[in-house]
Amino acid sequence: METYAMRLILFALLMIVPGVAIAQPADRRSGFENVDILTMTDSGMIESGHVIVSRGVIESVGDGPLPAGFDGERIDGGGGVLMPGLADMHVHYYADDMGVLYLANSTTFVRNLTGSVQTHRRDQAARSGALIAPRVATSGPIIDWGEPSSRDFFIRVQSTDEAVGAVRAQGRSGYDAVKLYEGLPANTYAAAAAEAERQGMRVYTHVPRSMDVRDVLALGVDSIEHLDGYARALMREGFTSEADRPWPQMWANADRSRFNELVAATLESGTWNVPTFAITYGRIYSADPDAYFSRPEAIYLPAWADYWAASAGQYAANAPFYEAQLREKGAFTRALYEAGAGVLIGSDGPNPFVTPGYAIHDELRGFAQAGFSNAEILRIATVDAARFMGLEGRMGVVAEGARADLVLLTGDPHDDLAVLRTPIGTMVAGNWWNREAMDSALAARAARLAAEREQRAGE
Ligand SMILES: [Zn+2]
Repeated sequence: METYAMRLILFALLMIVPGVAIAQPADRRSGFENVDILTMTDSGMIESGHVIVSRGVIESVGDGPLPAGFDGERIDGGGGVLMPGLADMHVHYYADDMGVLYLANSTTFVRNLTGSVQTHRRDQAARSGALIAPRVATSGPIIDWGEPSSRDFFIRVQSTDEAVGAVRAQGRSGYDAVKLYEGLPANTYAAAAAEAERQGMRVYTHVPRSMDVRDVLALGVDSIEHLDGYARALMREGFTSEADRPWPQMWANADRSRFNELVAATLESGTWNVPTFAITYGRIYSADPDAYFSRPEAIYLPAWADYWAASAGQYAANAPFYEAQLREKGAFTRALYEAGAGVLIGSDGPNPFVTPGYAIHDELRGFAQAGFSNAEILRIATVDAARFMGLEGRMGVVAEGARADLVLLTGDPHDDLAVLRTPIGTMVAGNWWNREAMDSALAARAARLAAEREQRAGE
């Protein structure tokens, strides 16, 4: 009994957002006016319009100011641009106060690739307004081959039966997707993917070392992360690498005459790809850790991220290949997109030198460098992400009946994507977080981490 009460108290404490004003109840109505509305629909941009939100959903979108009799909370957009929040489709979101890092970078939806019960709770808390955070969709804990360890967040299996059992267990726990990993043998992998399909679950995946990417595509998986496995299939005839982590070198030695076959196989499978360019930018930043840790957003990194500096040396061997990796991955991503295969924006923080939330701008840059226009990038980060999630028309658009997941910007990101770095405010499920609310949540996270750092230093 006592334990239960204590759990309730702990739960209540976890729900408190330090330093943030009380959120508005999600059932209240609110309305934006004095905004240019970037709808991401056929309506394009509605200049100087209004949007009414009720119970977390967009009730109406129209020209001019809010109706005279509107009795909800009025939000004056100050002539800014209101658009759907971005979706970061590859994150590892493992602490409540990370949520604001996404919002502060115009991201109102994240797809988490290492699930736990906490992930579901965070999504719930974001929707109720108890937590200043994006919505979350998540896979279950990563399923990989190997000895179980109490210290990691993977589910390790040592037989096909165990792998199938792990998929079933995740389905029973309410996950609608599994993440399959690099160490699985081909037959185990195929059985796990088939079980996921039987359970109506989606498969997000790395390409196992035991398999060719074509065989993974043939299983009709939903998404491949990092363009895993493609580098091996695309590298030029006769290329070999002794490197421990050969992917940058493989990409640098891609044979573009092989693109078509892999693009066709991907298109046929219906599989989407998340290139995660931000990881490669992180590898490039690893050459100068001091510069990275001097960035303003470095105060939001946990103390354990100090190991990035200590481990930076291991990335040096591939340093000559990172630019070529970005170029070839970019060219292949572009080829996929032009053929009609789905691609998604995903930043994969906290990989080394990849700061959660903030790294989405590197991902956008990766797409821009690959030849994507700002209009294409913005569609991928909104409308296309919604389509991948099966939420077409309900997410990623400013339209009647869509989720009220919005960002208010100082300008049109079609002209300059940099405005996405400094949103005036964000709305998640109808909960409005103005700049002040975001800034105080950011300050609270920085203070918590500074204390953690100090305590570590004192130990
Ligand atoms: Zn990841």
